[in-house]
Amino acid sequence: MSVAVVLFTADLRLHDHPPLRAALAAADEVVPLFVCDTAVHAAGFDVPNRSAFLADCLADLDASLRRRGGRLVVRRGPVVEEVCAVVAECGATQVHMAAGVTRYAHRREESLRGALGERGAVLRVHDAVTTAVAPGTVTPAGGDHYAVFTPYFRRWSRERLRETCAAPRTVRVPGAVRGEPLPRRDGLSGLSPGLPAGGETEGRARFSRWAGSGLSGYEERHDDLAGDATSRLSPYLHFGALSPVELVRRARARGGAGAEAFVRQLCWRDFHHQVLASRPEASVRDYRTRHDRWRSEEEAAEDIAAWREGRTGYPVVDAAMRQLRHEGWVHNRGRLLAASFLTKTLYVDWRIGARHFLDLLVDGDIVNNQLNWQWVAGTGTDTRPHRVLNPVAQGRRFDPRGAYVRRWVPELRDLEDALVHEPWRLPAAERARLDYPPPLIGLGDGLARFRLARGRD
Ligand code: FAD
Repeated sequence: MSVAVVLFTADLRLHDHPPLRAALAAADEVVPLFVCDTAVHAAGFDVPNRSAFLADCLADLDASLRRRGGRLVVRRGPVVEEVCAVVAECGATQVHMAAGVTRYAHRREESLRGALGERGAVLRVHDAVTTAVAPGTVTPAGGDHYAVFTPYFRRWSRERLRETCAAPRTVRVPGAVRGEPLPRRDGLSGLSPGLPAGGETEGRARFSRWAGSGLSGYEERHDDLAGDATSRLSPYLHFGALSPVELVRRARARGGAGAEAFVRQLCWRDFHHQVLASRPEASVRDYRTRHDRWRSEEEAAEDIAAWREGRTGYPVVDAAMRQLRHEGWVHNRGRLLAASFLTKTLYVDWRIGARHFLDLLVDGDIVNNQLNWQWVAGTGTDTRPHRVLNPVAQGRRFDPRGAYVRRWVPELRDLEDALVHEPWRLPAAERARLDYPPPLIGLGDGLARFRLARGRD
């Protein structure tokens, strides 16, 4: 009886899962394995919001496997040790997993390959499982990755995607392998109250619903803060509960401007993955240095605290920061405005903001979070690195009636539309009655400091 192990990481699904299909084709029995990796815990990456979502994903995966005659084997410990222990317990000769792009994923892959080799087993790593197009597939002449999105998108769009594969009908798991209880959502404290439910089943249902109702209007409505018209699929993509290849194919099959715009956003995910795959150090270091001498954590302590609490005095920034705390998710425009305000108007290091986002975001991942922060800070791939977003002008443009601000900043609920983004224009007596702070800094002063720092004054 031949046995293969499938190590699930950021690919928690049964539909369109090439490593699982390959393992099933190669062996009589398969161990679907997830390791609650102590290194991820030690790095502080398993924050409550993502732990809860992960617990949902694992429970769903286990239930789906059980319907097919199998089960999910969960282990806790250092990932390489646990995989090797499972291989020894079931006599497996191959381990299948999805390729990753972070420094940690590269190290994990290398150590696994070595450790398995010593035990006479092989590691098979599958591409295009967590991205639509594998990093390194689309490269510019003379380079190992694209540093600018638009040319990447052009080439990416012409790339032939692999075929999707169906979820297996049956999965036979050897009885001898020991498993531990699944991690549970209940018992976790510090969760955002508006956290979505995780899991492949939930993700697929959401996509189907949204493809029928929101996709066609996505192009016109995706930047409407109050309209909340984006797919909200990012956490499902982050945990791999949905396959990016399948989403691109299904969106393209529907066609239209909305589908094209949605596919373009999915391409941003791949774009960042291929940057980080080539420059893993960009998760912590400037991709392109601008020689910033950011204000330190101590120097800017009060500003950083006000930003985290959503009390900067700029309503749209505060709304985004409060949505982050409440839902563990923020509209992309809100993320852009909150990040631009921290890095450019307050001139605080992007790593401080990125860390705070990672502490709360249910979709928080090293690739998209760090590289979007760098994009906004102007140390990443933005071709206009010194632009500064004006939260008042942006608020008026993307939340013209102030509905987004009113939803998250109830102190401003009764202001008329024209004042929602500029409450400081209220007469002094009325302003004094509001429990809402004055702006932390004038936008002109913030801009002047930033321009001086970047040598642009
Ligand atoms: P939709 O608009 O429906 O887009 C569909 C999918 O495309 C998203 O689910 C996402 O997977 C992908 N996508 C869209 N925009 C981007 C983008 N700019 N970069 C990469 N992928 C994108 N996204 C994350 O998944 N994880 C993060 O940790 C993260 N951190 C961010 C931090 C900052 C400062 C900024 C500006 C953006 C960040 N994003 C991150 C990107 C983006 O904001 C979210 O992916 C998006 O808001 C998710 O909502 P949605 O699923 O409704 O997106």
